[in-house]
Amino acid sequence: MTEPLYRAEQLTRRYRNGGTEVLALDHVDLTIEPGRRLGIVGESGSGKSTLVRLLAGLDRPTSGRIWFEGTEITDLPERRLGFLRAAVQMVFQDPRSSLNPRMRVGDIITEPLRSRLVRRQLPDGIDHARRLAEVLDAVDLPTDSGGRYPHEFSGGQRQRIAIARALAPKPEILIADEPVSALDVSVRAQVLNLLTDLVAAQGLTLIVVSHDLMVVRHLCDQLAVMRQGRIIEQGDTETVYSRPGAEYTRALLAAIPRIRTAG
Ligand code: ADP
Repeated sequence: MTEPLYRAEQLTRRYRNGGTEVLALDHVDLTIEPGRRLGIVGESGSGKSTLVRLLAGLDRPTSGRIWFEGTEITDLPERRLGFLRAAVQMVFQDPRSSLNPRMRVGDIITEPLRSRLVRRQLPDGIDHARRLAEVLDAVDLPTDSGGRYPHEFSGGQRQRIAIARALAPKPEILIADEPVSALDVSVRAQVLNLLTDLVAAQGLTLIVVSHDLMVVRHLCDQLAVMRQGRIIEQGDTETVYSRPGAEYTRALLAAIPRIRTAG
């Protein structure tokens, strides 16, 4: 049997907010097989971002255990997380705040290649200029984009820059947190189609966090529904859509038209 990409057992994360304690993640068990496209949905505050931060090794669980490709990463010190930093890349919601406005696009995109932890995982002498050209081409941005600054691009193009940056170190897994929520409705479909094509062409595993079930339906073949720090329903996307088991999932699905017209 091949190892799953991720295995999490009883994953729990508590935060202390002043005097009160928040149970952001409550004993979650999860397995992600390579090549899956997993959508994590649920209302705001249900623990989606906490879960993906733990998967990316950006935060540690309060209790429970987590493995990546069979290696336990629960308590690994930062200096030993290089393999995870290279393998997992993230795309965030708002490219305006995730791209440094003072850096040229070429430097933004190749920055992950210069990270000390990631560098050790990459082939020696990886040619940054060549990799930049490859990923600009992959996201359909002009070849000369590298010398320009983020503000010279539209919102949709800036999200393409963020995607190019994530692709630069040749990751195995792309984690996208609300990848199109900050974009104009008119360019959302283009960015979703681009992500779909890239994931297929490069054989990536995709993890998408979204409150928008239409986004997840477009991108993902599996769904995990979160509520109050727990995964309350999980299955392949079409099954969950056509036969939602939980009342909460039915309510999320029923809310789609309202969310769409309000947005
Ligand atoms: P979602 O992504 O589904 O909106 P989050 O994972 O961001 O949910 O948050 C889950 C819960 O944990 C919320 O109650 C949130 O307020 C709390 N939380 C998340 N991050 C922190 C933090 N760094 N400090 C304190 N509380 C946090």
